[in-house]
Amino acid sequence: MPEKRDLEFRGIGVSPGVVAGLVLVLQGGDDPLPEYAIPPEDVPREMVRLEAALIETRRQLHDIQERVGEAMGGESAGIFEAHLQVVDDPSFVDEVYREVREKRRNIEKVLMEVSERYAQTLLQMEDDYLRERATDIRDVTRRILRNLMGGGSDWLAGIESPRIVVAHDIPPSEMAALDRRKILGLAMELGSPTSHAAIMARAMELPAVVGLHDVCSQLQDGNRAILDGVRGRLVLHPTAAREEEYTRLARSRAVIQKRLETLRDKPAETLDGTAIDLAANIEMPADVKAVRARGARGIGLFRSEYLYLANEGNPSEEQQYTAYAEVARGILPDTAIIRTLDLGGDKLPAGDRRTVEANPFLGWRAIRLSLARPAIFKAQLRAILRASALNPGLRVMYPMISSAGEVDQANAILQECMDELDEAGQPFNRGIEIGVMIEIPSAALTAEAIAPKVKFFSIGTNDLVQYTLAVDRVNERVAHLYEPTHPAVLQLIAQTVEAGRRHGVWTGVCGEMAAQPLLVPLLLGLGVTELSVSPGAVPVVKDVIRRIRMDDARALADEVRGLSSGAEVLESCRGFLRRHAPELLELSE
Ligand code: PEP
Ligand code: MG
Repeated sequence: MPEKRDLEFRGIGVSPGVVAGLVLVLQGGDDPLPEYAIPPEDVPREMVRLEAALIETRRQLHDIQERVGEAMGGESAGIFEAHLQVVDDPSFVDEVYREVREKRRNIEKVLMEVSERYAQTLLQMEDDYLRERATDIRDVTRRILRNLMGGGSDWLAGIESPRIVVAHDIPPSEMAALDRRKILGLAMELGSPTSHAAIMARAMELPAVVGLHDVCSQLQDGNRAILDGVRGRLVLHPTAAREEEYTRLARSRAVIQKRLETLRDKPAETLDGTAIDLAANIEMPADVKAVRARGARGIGLFRSEYLYLANEGNPSEEQQYTAYAEVARGILPDTAIIRTLDLGGDKLPAGDRRTVEANPFLGWRAIRLSLARPAIFKAQLRAILRASALNPGLRVMYPMISSAGEVDQANAILQECMDELDEAGQPFNRGIEIGVMIEIPSAALTAEAIAPKVKFFSIGTNDLVQYTLAVDRVNERVAHLYEPTHPAVLQLIAQTVEAGRRHGVWTGVCGEMAAQPLLVPLLLGLGVTELSVSPGAVPVVKDVIRRIRMDDARALADEVRGLSSGAEVLESCRGFLRRHAPELLELSE
């Protein structure tokens, strides 16, 4: 009898690894809501359903509060408090009950309507605090709905063995609260390689595939599947032949990984002796351990906004100092770059999807937010400066710089902080190195004017590509247009490096482009001297560095300069890797 066929879904592999197991499907609050009339005798049943969902929601919120509290070092007991207040608000719940009775509609529909009415009323308020509560109401409503509809982030609570989690989307704030031990891998309908959920999956070393259209409706809890985070596949009901193919693949990748592990203490040096600074990107102070374990020298990017993301409100100067001090001490004798707050875009705090901007990536984000809220910015800068007393290699970096003037403004505030610390007799490193992210084309084009104000450039290719090509980095519909090898992007990188060189400013790359084995030779050939990648990618990037010569890398950069499309450039890079480290191609496509 011929074997039954399996069903393959194709998406984008964003975090490597192959896993097989049972799926857990999250039917999210973003799905269409059921709407139906109910007979009068069913009214009490709807109420009982709501009560059960509220109890579950409370339990989840307490649970998340505890888990996030642990991850953040125990100082964040107040997290999700505002969400709990909504669940416990008797007037809100009473209104839902009353409307179910009067309108005789199902509870999901009524809950959504009442919640939206509350949210709209709050959004009209003058008071910032009250307006923010609108977001709490919406967030909690989503959670209650998920519980009513059988999904929810209690998803992991009853799970005995780890699952492949399949979801429409998981916002970074929820990713931060995930229990890694219960998840084999992630499959999402939305997202792209540079969405922050994907970046977090890599940081958690969790195989992940995004951009899997309509997958949720076609899978059921408990289905068996294989997830391939490199090739971007989710295979439902795999046949025996498919299981075998993947077992073979997993084995051959494991052999490569084993060899890569032996590189841990070896230098990131090309065959002709050029040392490259190979650093790692982290999201939380606890990640410093992984940086060491994977053989990186230093931290090229600490995305400090994750301290804010998992938190309700801003972490205090003291909380931040504790976090930065942990990083500064933990990474000694190496260096660490703390990037100042980069909230906005797809990174909004748990209780803050209020900032409904038409174009969030072009909006009130990162340094713009910091300059507009000097009190928040100063608390962060003071905390970084104080931690700099513990490690002379602690550096500060501003994100989303679009002009030299913004660097001046930020530096002036940094100077004020130094003066304040001086007055208070607090020690700090007066010569702390300042750098900027080059991730907006205008910054790359005016790098010459920015260079005299800083010690280093770090190219954020995730954003640079999105802003250069006008391709939303989190929109899977245009993911095929998101080309780091586009000639325009390469020109901006080259221009930045050259402007930096003229002023004695080094240039690194901390975007995901630096973690792609295929593109590492090209970046080095363009003159980049530092690469910062997620800890999991350090070994393979080090391997590439150790197997090439700088002359060849420069020749590659020269060769692609004449090409007119991203696809041609990619093909040249592929040819280069095939000649120098062929087996690594398997890890990159
Ligand atoms: C980037 O834009 O490349 C970057 C490293 O910053 P983020 O991904 O946090 O925006
Ligand atoms: Mg960025």
